[in-house]
Amino acid sequence: MTSVDVRGDLLSGLNPAQREAVEHGSGPMLVLAGAGSGKTRVLTRRVVRLIEQEGIPPQQVLAVTFTNKAAGEMRTRIADLLGAEPSGMWVGTFHSIGARLLRIHAQLTGRTQGFTIYDEDDTLAAVKHAMERLKISPKDRPPQAIVAAISDAKNALVSSAEYERLAMDPFSKAAAQVYRELDVALRQANAVTFDDLLVLPVYLLEQNPDVLEKYRRRFKHILVDEYQDTNRAQYRFVSLLGAGHGNVTVVGDDDQSIYGWRGADIRNILDFEHEFQGARVVRLEENYRSTPQILAVANAAISANTSRKGKTLRTTRPPGDSVTVVATLDERDEAEFVVEEISERRYAAKRRPLRDFAVLYRTNSQSRAMEEALRRHSIPYRLVGAIRFYDRREIRDLLAWLRIVANPADDEAFRRAVSAPRRGVGETTLDALAAFASSAGIPMLAAATHEKFAGSLRPTTRDALAAFSALVKRMNEKARESPVNELLRDLVVAIGYEEHLRAEGPGANERLDNVRELVAGAVETVQDDGGEIGLTPLDHFLQRATLVTSADALDPNADAVTLMTLHNAKGLEFPVVFLTGLEEGLFPLSRSMDNPESLEEERRLFYVGVTRAEDLLFISHARSRRRNGETMPSMRSSFLREIPASMVKDRSTMKLRGSAQQWERPSAAERRPGIPTWAPPRPSHDSRFTIHEAEHESQDQPRFVKGERVKHSRFGSGTIAELNGVGKETKVTVDFDDETIGRKRLVVAFAGLERGEE
Ligand code: ATP
Ligand code: MG
Repeated sequence: MTSVDVRGDLLSGLNPAQREAVEHGSGPMLVLAGAGSGKTRVLTRRVVRLIEQEGIPPQQVLAVTFTNKAAGEMRTRIADLLGAEPSGMWVGTFHSIGARLLRIHAQLTGRTQGFTIYDEDDTLAAVKHAMERLKISPKDRPPQAIVAAISDAKNALVSSAEYERLAMDPFSKAAAQVYRELDVALRQANAVTFDDLLVLPVYLLEQNPDVLEKYRRRFKHILVDEYQDTNRAQYRFVSLLGAGHGNVTVVGDDDQSIYGWRGADIRNILDFEHEFQGARVVRLEENYRSTPQILAVANAAISANTSRKGKTLRTTRPPGDSVTVVATLDERDEAEFVVEEISERRYAAKRRPLRDFAVLYRTNSQSRAMEEALRRHSIPYRLVGAIRFYDRREIRDLLAWLRIVANPADDEAFRRAVSAPRRGVGETTLDALAAFASSAGIPMLAAATHEKFAGSLRPTTRDALAAFSALVKRMNEKARESPVNELLRDLVVAIGYEEHLRAEGPGANERLDNVRELVAGAVETVQDDGGEIGLTPLDHFLQRATLVTSADALDPNADAVTLMTLHNAKGLEFPVVFLTGLEEGLFPLSRSMDNPESLEEERRLFYVGVTRAEDLLFISHARSRRRNGETMPSMRSSFLREIPASMVKDRSTMKLRGSAQQWERPSAAERRPGIPTWAPPRPSHDSRFTIHEAEHESQDQPRFVKGERVKHSRFGSGTIAELNGVGKETKVTVDFDDETIGRKRLVVAFAGLERGEE
């Protein structure tokens, strides 16, 4: 490819505003624009232009994306446009870039280059162990809550010392102690948490002016995608590096900010112009992704939010099909509906490959019914996010082994490896060992064979620990000269892992397949890009295994339907999208319904979902749904009410219509089993649906009056203080007798309230 071609390529297919953003010279720039307007495209093209036309060396560019997949995509797009892999350019997620920086300067944070990255489970375990040492009971202070508090503090750049100063109530005081203890333990274990990958680089830059200066000089251009979802630490990272030259380009959409619950701060985008004085602001107003019908629904949905900048988003595509809202009977009926729609299009005259379809939902557990239906119809699918490959027990066991081999100070890995498989070292021994290690200030592995400790053990336990330690040592030597896949293969044999899994019985074959996949995957371990850091292949492999995010599992070439949560769908696009479970309490989630801010965040998530669709969008809801083991009646989501009826086509499934009569009975519970509610397989392709008639008002809800006594399965008895709304949308305000519960606002349709006392 000649550079003339590249230049032609570079600006072709861009509108004037996009072109302006791509061609922008130096200085800060904010591209603020709605979904599908080409923000990511602009960012990629801009990187190429800087390198190709401005002659900026690739190593002077830092580009931050939200998933590793997006980073990989950007790399290939840039490589395609440039005709060569840009060497030395830093493209990645905040987490992977943070990890990279920390590897280079590990000593400055009290670690060595081979530090371990603790994932959420390791971090929870480390917190529990810290609590044990501090004698804080997990019953009084749930470890999960402590983890969350520490994580929030870290992401807000509140250090343990500062947290301790600010802690007033007993919970925060306990959390402060654990926070401090955890930091010490992490350093001792030569480990960092996910949050640390964002936070430690900030401290590193703040506390070492020479390092900061070095990177300020190095990264002449910084570009950040999905800027609306950055939190305090990420924001600070960008402003520290960009403050000197101000060549910072950020792109984002305030309407797509969906990580507020994880500390993302929408102010970061709204305040950009203030932080970077004189920033150029570019607005992109054309949407290239979706049909006008889909876009109209998206615009209507988001306009119900009050706290937003407000943007115009015009369609560029010719009209397509209407958006369809489908009423279904229950989650199985909903899944059947999705499968039928997919099957039909898969074999229609204008065939669509399976990779064109995505099914999105609010909560992971909703995937089950979908998966069953897809399996029943032998349709391949790809599940993004639920149990990640690397979260499977057998994989975690083997990774723990690799970790302790790579980093003998990794105490969490030690604990896991020593009992996978079990080798006669019990919990009590481990606790004593941990206590000894902590007081001696040495890692557990070293403590295990320390004569002061080993001397106090029964001979069998002592031998078991000695054998374990010898094996780790042997593997450590092996790791220096062998590739990771060979190391893994030897390890599996040496620890008798296959026999261990077989002895467990059912499920062993599947687990062994996963083990084989891990070994095969290790073959592909690539050299660290740019090769600057000189990670060993094992370190590199482990880092990759910990940093793959859920959306990374998505292989765009595989022909399969994609299933994922709405959070994972950000930034992606699909020709056909099914947005499922649009029910009050599920989407929006019930816990967000009492809080206007979280309700707005849920609505933004809905907007993200709608705007993933290119050609066709189906939005479905079910009359009843099994949740947490119970079948509950459910009600159309209020988000659907906010969309004008003229914008969508309503349908209902045959199964739902077949059951309509039963819905008019006094109670769903009275349904007699044996009444067929499911019609025989549909004869022709379109008879299953009819244009939706007026919705049946559900008659099976009790009607309440103000002042009436009611009881709730979880909250106990109370008195109705207020009633609002009509029919299925009736909400009640109940003053519960239990003072710790107090006043609650509930939707009658699924609160399960009963009359009278407990
Ligand atoms: P999101 O907010 O969802 O992340 P985005 O603003 O980043 O969306 P892109 O993913 O960059 O949007 O672009 C959306 C789609 O429109 C892509 O398929 C992209 O290739 C296409 N596109 C962008 N700009 C143009 C253009 N000027 N002409 C034709 N297609 C375009
Ligand atoms: Mg994008």
